[in-house]
Amino acid sequence: MKAIEVIESLKRRFPNEPEYIQAVSQVLPTIEETYNQHPEFEKSNLIERLCIPDRVYEFRVTWTDDRGQVHTNMGYRIQHNNAIGPYKGGLRFHSSVNLGILKFLAFEQTFKNSLTTLPMGGAKGGSDFSPRGKSNAEVMRFCQAFMTELWRNIGPDVDVPAGDIGVGGREVGYLFGMYKKLTHEYSGTFTGKGLEFGGSLIRPEATGYGNVYFLQEMLATKGIDIKGKTVCVSGSGNVAQYTVDKLIDLGAKVVTLSDSNGYIYDPDGIDREKWNYVMELKNIERGRIREYAEKYNVKYVEGGRPWGEKCDIALPSATQNEIDGDDARKLVANGVIAVGEGANMPSTPEAIKVFQDARILYSPGKASNAGGVSVSGLEMSQNSERLSWTREEVDQKLHSIMKNIHAACVQYGTEKDGYVNYVKGANVAGFMKVAKAMMAQGIL
Ligand code: NDP
Repeated sequence: MKAIEVIESLKRRFPNEPEYIQAVSQVLPTIEETYNQHPEFEKSNLIERLCIPDRVYEFRVTWTDDRGQVHTNMGYRIQHNNAIGPYKGGLRFHSSVNLGILKFLAFEQTFKNSLTTLPMGGAKGGSDFSPRGKSNAEVMRFCQAFMTELWRNIGPDVDVPAGDIGVGGREVGYLFGMYKKLTHEYSGTFTGKGLEFGGSLIRPEATGYGNVYFLQEMLATKGIDIKGKTVCVSGSGNVAQYTVDKLIDLGAKVVTLSDSNGYIYDPDGIDREKWNYVMELKNIERGRIREYAEKYNVKYVEGGRPWGEKCDIALPSATQNEIDGDDARKLVANGVIAVGEGANMPSTPEAIKVFQDARILYSPGKASNAGGVSVSGLEMSQNSERLSWTREEVDQKLHSIMKNIHAACVQYGTEKDGYVNYVKGANVAGFMKVAKAMMAQGIL
C-alpha cells in the first residue's frame, strides 16, 4: 500500500468531502509501514475496505415549527465498519453537518472504538438541524421525525447511536422514546440515556473525565503533576463542562471557555461556584458564554478562539479544525507542555506538525476522548445484564480503560529518540485489531 496513492484515489472519488479526506490522510501514512508488513492485507485490498464505509443512509426529515411552518432537514447515518462489534457512534445535530463531516467522524470512530478494548464497530450520524434557538416542543418534533426514518436501520445488536454536538440528554430521550414506540420494544439501542431509563452513571462525565485521565498519564511520563497548572479549554458543552469539573477537583486552574460566538478569559480561574453557573447557563437557560463575562466581569473576545492566551495545557473541546497552524505556534511560543484533544480532529494537520516538531505531549481525539464511547460500551453491557453499576465501579473502569489506551499508544508510538508519537500509536493499535477481525471474516 502506498498511502499517498490511496489518498489521491479517495480524493478523486469523493472530491466534496474535505474533512473525510483530511481524516484519512492523517491516518494512512502512520499505518503504512505496519500494513506493508502483512502482504495478505494488500491482496485483499483491506485499506479501501477500511476507508470506505460499509453503507450510508441519507434521508429527508420533515418537521413543523411552533408557528405551523413546515421545515426540511437532511438526516444521515454512516455505518462504517462492524468487524469487531455492532456499529456504534453518536448523532450530531448542527447546521454545519454534511456527509463528508460525518464520514470523517465515522472513520475516526472505528479506530477509537477499537482502542477502547470493548466490542464496538464504528458509525456516526446526524442532521443539519440545529437545536440552538428552538423550543423544547420543536426539538421533540424534530427528533421524532428523524427517528421515523432511522429506526429501521438500528438496533441493540445492529447499530447503537448516542449523543454528540447538539445531541445531549434531552435529545437522546426524545429519540429513544420514538424508537421504543415504533419498534414496540424496550432495548439498549441508544447510549447516553437518562439514568431513569437505562442510562449509565458517569456517561455524561465520561469524555471530559477520560480526557483528563489520559492527560495525567501523558504528564506522568515526564513526571509532571497537573496540580497548579493553567489550562485553556475551548467549548462549553458536555465535553468542556466535565473536563473543567475534573480539573477543578485536581487543583488545576482553567482560564478559558468558548462557544461558537467567542471565548471568555478568567485569569482567576473557574472555581466550583462559577462551574455551577456554567452548567446552569448552558444546560438549563441554554445561554451564551458571553454572559459569563458579564456576570464575572472578565474579558470576552467576540469571534475569537482561546489559543493566544498563555497556558501550560490546552484541551480543545469544541469542534473540528479549531486549532490551526498559527494557533499552534502561539501555544508553543507561550510554553504549552501538553495538548489533549477532547473534540474530534480539533487540530489541523499543520497544527499537529507544529506540536510534534516542538516535541510537546500531544494526543489525538481518538485516544484522549475515547472515554465517552467507552462508558457507552459499559452502558450497553449494563443494559444487556439489566443491571446498573455504581458510580465508583464505572469511574474505575473508565480510568483503567484510559490507562490501557495510553499504554497502547506508548507501545506502538514510541520513536527512536523516546518521543511518544500518540497519533501513530493510536492509529496502529486501533488499526491492527480491526484489520485482523476483517481478515478472519473473509472478503465482505
Ligand atoms: P456540545 O454540543 O455539548 O458542545 C459543543 C461546544 O462546542 C459548544 O460550546 C458549541 O458552541 C461549540 N461549538 C460547536 N460547533 C462549533 C464551531 N463550529 N465553532 C466553535 N464552537 C463550536 O458537544 P460535545 O461537548 O458533546 O462535543 C464537543 C466535541 O467533542 C465534538 O468534537 C464531539 O465530536 C467531541 N466528542 C464528544 C463526545 C461526547 O461524549 N459528547 C465523545 C467524544 C468526542 P455553540 O453552543 O455556540 O454551538
